[in-house]
Amino acid sequence: MLERGMVVDKERTFCMIKPEGVARGLVGEILTRIEHKGYRIVALKMLRLTREMAEKHYAEHREKPFFRELVEHITSGPVIAMVLEGPGVISGLRKLMGATNPQEAAPGTIRGDYALETGQNIIHGADSLASAEREINLYFRPEEIMG
Ligand code: GDP
Ligand code: MG
Repeated sequence: MLERGMVVDKERTFCMIKPEGVARGLVGEILTRIEHKGYRIVALKMLRLTREMAEKHYAEHREKPFFRELVEHITSGPVIAMVLEGPGVISGLRKLMGATNPQEAAPGTIRGDYALETGQNIIHGADSLASAEREINLYFRPEEIMG
């Protein structure tokens, strides 16, 4: 039982504060919400994505009509990339974020409180264990993650 619990507690996800979140000065607010919930920030960096990185990050959306806009947007300025750790953090972060369309996101969520447009929805979070692992590896080397 204890061993199972320990494995679950170590669940990790990938989170990004998108360019508009950084530009609007919402980094501190978002980190506060994540930390106050109880998740641990185990890796964090500021970077500006290259087109190649952005296309890899959003590979699942390659065929979508908004893909070009998405890549333009995510490469438009610096972002904050993070690895978060805690029990149930993958779905828990998605709950803190709120719905993809901020007009449908509940008040109290990050998107619900700070955004109005889908294309400017401030925050990204991996949506599954497979996505979390893929995205963490895209942005961080193992030695950059504090265990
Ligand atoms: P998420 O997992 O909640 O971020 O949503 P998705 O994985 O479905 O989409 C990825 C990102 O693409 C979203 O966060 C939006 O920023 C953007 N996006 C999704 N749908 C649209 C759209 O119809 N138009 C535009 N401009 N961006 C979109
Ligand atoms: Mg997604």
